[in-house]
Amino acid sequence: MPKLYHLNLSKNMIRGARVALLPGDPFRSGAIAEAVASEYGSDAKELAWKREYRTYLTSVEGKSVLVTSTGIGGPSTSIAVEELARIGVRTFVRVGTTGAIQKNIKTGDCIITTASVRLDGASTHYAPPEYPAVADFYVVRALIEGAERADIKYHVGVTASSDTFYPGEERKDSFRRYIIKRFQGSMREWRELGVLNYEMESATLLTMTSSMKLRGGCVTGVINTAGRGEITKRDLEKGEGNVIKAAVSALRGLV
Ligand code: URA
Repeated sequence: MPKLYHLNLSKNMIRGARVALLPGDPFRSGAIAEAVASEYGSDAKELAWKREYRTYLTSVEGKSVLVTSTGIGGPSTSIAVEELARIGVRTFVRVGTTGAIQKNIKTGDCIITTASVRLDGASTHYAPPEYPAVADFYVVRALIEGAERADIKYHVGVTASSDTFYPGEERKDSFRRYIIKRFQGSMREWRELGVLNYEMESATLLTMTSSMKLRGGCVTGVINTAGRGEITKRDLEKGEGNVIKAAVSALRGLV
């Protein structure tokens, strides 16, 4: 089989990996793979890096695990999931960052998504809008166990997954500042409806995995709260650090 067009991977390069961790940021792929290798006494090797897709191969208890960055948003995530599934990956776990909607959630906490509000476009190419973007029960359970083992504070529930960082998450600090009617008051509404957080990939990921008989999940670290514009370096490090610890620990139950 020739190499996949976007991921630049072939089936024999991934050594039978069935599980992939999916950060958004290519620079987080290496950090996650190194953390897995250090936790489980294995190695981490970079396999490919093309555009936003950077893949490392590592292992847990002798079983291969991939870490592949998806880039930001649904379209690039859909390409990563399509191509990884074609070479044998069956469990997909997003490991990302997020903004909290509920006021009791603090920076550094982790959110384990059970289902996502589909504020994206890419998922509509896979299933009609009535179809739920739902996480796999066993992946959710492994993520909860992972967060508990790693002693990270976590919340479990529904995520709003938006195609845009600014209007879709009702940010007031955009260039135009005006927010179209569809999103005016939307954060308040999601809060009333019990939605925990915003991020930008899970709607596409979980619609794809659920509708294609794959297993999907999403764990994110909170880097800002209640729609505040500023994301400080300290909060970013806290959110990223904790979500990596929770996801690495969850691999015990995922491989
Ligand atoms: N990612 C998002 O989509 N929103 C945030 O506020 C932080 C990370």
